[in-house]
Amino acid sequence: MKVAVVGSSHGGYEAVRGVLQQFPDAHIDWYEKGDFISFLSCGMELYLQGVVKDVNSVSYATIPEMEDKGVHVHINSEVTNIDPDGHKLTVVDVQNGQEESADYDKLILSVGATPFKLPVAGKELQNIYAMRGRDWAIKLREAEVKPDIKNVTVVGSGYIGIEAAESFAKAGKHVTIVDMNPTILGTYLDTEFTEILEEELKANDVDLRLSQSVKEYVGNSDDKVTSVISTTGDTWDADLVIETAGIRPATKWLAGIVDLDDHGMIKTDEYQQTSNPDIFAVGDATEIEFAPTGKKQLIALASSARRQGRSAAANLEGHKRKTTAVSGSSALHVFNYKFASTGVKDVTAKGLGVDVESVFVTDTKVPPFVPAEHNAEVFFKLTYDPKTRVVMGAQIMSKMDTTANINAISLAIQQHMTVDDLAYADFFFQPGFDRPWNIMNVAAQKAEQKLD
Ligand code: FAD
Repeated sequence: MKVAVVGSSHGGYEAVRGVLQQFPDAHIDWYEKGDFISFLSCGMELYLQGVVKDVNSVSYATIPEMEDKGVHVHINSEVTNIDPDGHKLTVVDVQNGQEESADYDKLILSVGATPFKLPVAGKELQNIYAMRGRDWAIKLREAEVKPDIKNVTVVGSGYIGIEAAESFAKAGKHVTIVDMNPTILGTYLDTEFTEILEEELKANDVDLRLSQSVKEYVGNSDDKVTSVISTTGDTWDADLVIETAGIRPATKWLAGIVDLDDHGMIKTDEYQQTSNPDIFAVGDATEIEFAPTGKKQLIALASSARRQGRSAAANLEGHKRKTTAVSGSSALHVFNYKFASTGVKDVTAKGLGVDVESVFVTDTKVPPFVPAEHNAEVFFKLTYDPKTRVVMGAQIMSKMDTTANINAISLAIQQHMTVDDLAYADFFFQPGFDRPWNIMNVAAQKAEQKLD
């Protein structure tokens, strides 16, 4: 069997691994339009903050490693067209424009997404960057050490925007975050958490300009951006802008080849099969089932892409494995705080069309007798369906690392557990790590009281 995989990021890499495992005799052609394989944007922050020194190490695998496994790796090779009936790909060498045709029996697309570029006046000015992929990682790192870049504006306060803001603030730049939402991290956390984190950002000299968007970028005679004008009429200096205001699927070229939805996402079933039975698709160009609602939506996470990649590979010769529903869990640090969240939040419930109720609890990480330098306050919110009592989501934050609790809640969501199941669920106790009642028990017991 000849398998072609397009795209070498999370979804593509996992698909290749899966094919190697499931079909060791398959001939695998792996196409990537960039000049590098399997860069992890997830590792960009570690690189920007100097924890990881070599940008090339931020990857799953090297070309020689994959070739040793028998994979035929084609970099600088953009797949520009598919003839589904003839099972043929058009592959363009991006360095010299030469076109080739290549055969496949089964095709897995993990073409991902590209950063959304704000369609505002001045958008063509220099020093307006994005944050995705190795090329931007290198450019951003260079900008961090340029002395003439003093003021940095980050557009968007999702987790990528916060990673950018923290990295540049730590590099000694004055950072302004602008977001049309009234709070930062608007789809990740409710206000009990964002209020604390907004103060944390301000304490680290990061300016917040919320409930406003960019109206215009202003430049100088060298065509470099110098300031930002917002929709509220405010203006501030900016030598560098980092746009992290969402992504768009890289799928225009697939129109008429496989079914796309109105947003250009590739439609797949739970086996990652597209409208063409020999073409599979995974990652940020597809939707995935959201466990709390059972409905498909975009959850642009590497963790989702990897799970889909594994399913696609398993299903190439027939339906073997459905992709597991995910809860959209993610974790991040914001200076001294570490948070994680999963599933539905109060702030996202309306948009998802679900009625939820929540309880918010605070506790200490370990028993209060443990001195402050080994202890910290923990904030936890549990969200559930008040009719069925089923757990729908949770958020946790502390100056110590308590984020692993969110994986337990993700599992609870996946298994449709109720607050009653969680209230007395058995979690370990050891005073160096935890309390006799884990904060998940405490919150679920509070939810029971509220519901009864
Ligand atoms: P992409 O990563 O978008 O990659 C697509 C690849 O396909 C690219 O290499 C592209 O060049 C190539 N390609 C596209 N079209 C073609 C074509 N026609 N021919 C050949 N090649 C093509 N997720 C997490 O779970 N945890 C995190 O901590 C996390 N942190 C992140 C931090 C940042 C800064 C960013 C930007 C994202 C982060 N994510 C994180 C999200 C995660 O990176 C994405 O969900 C994931 O990369 C999606 O993988 P993908 O395979 O769908 O596509």
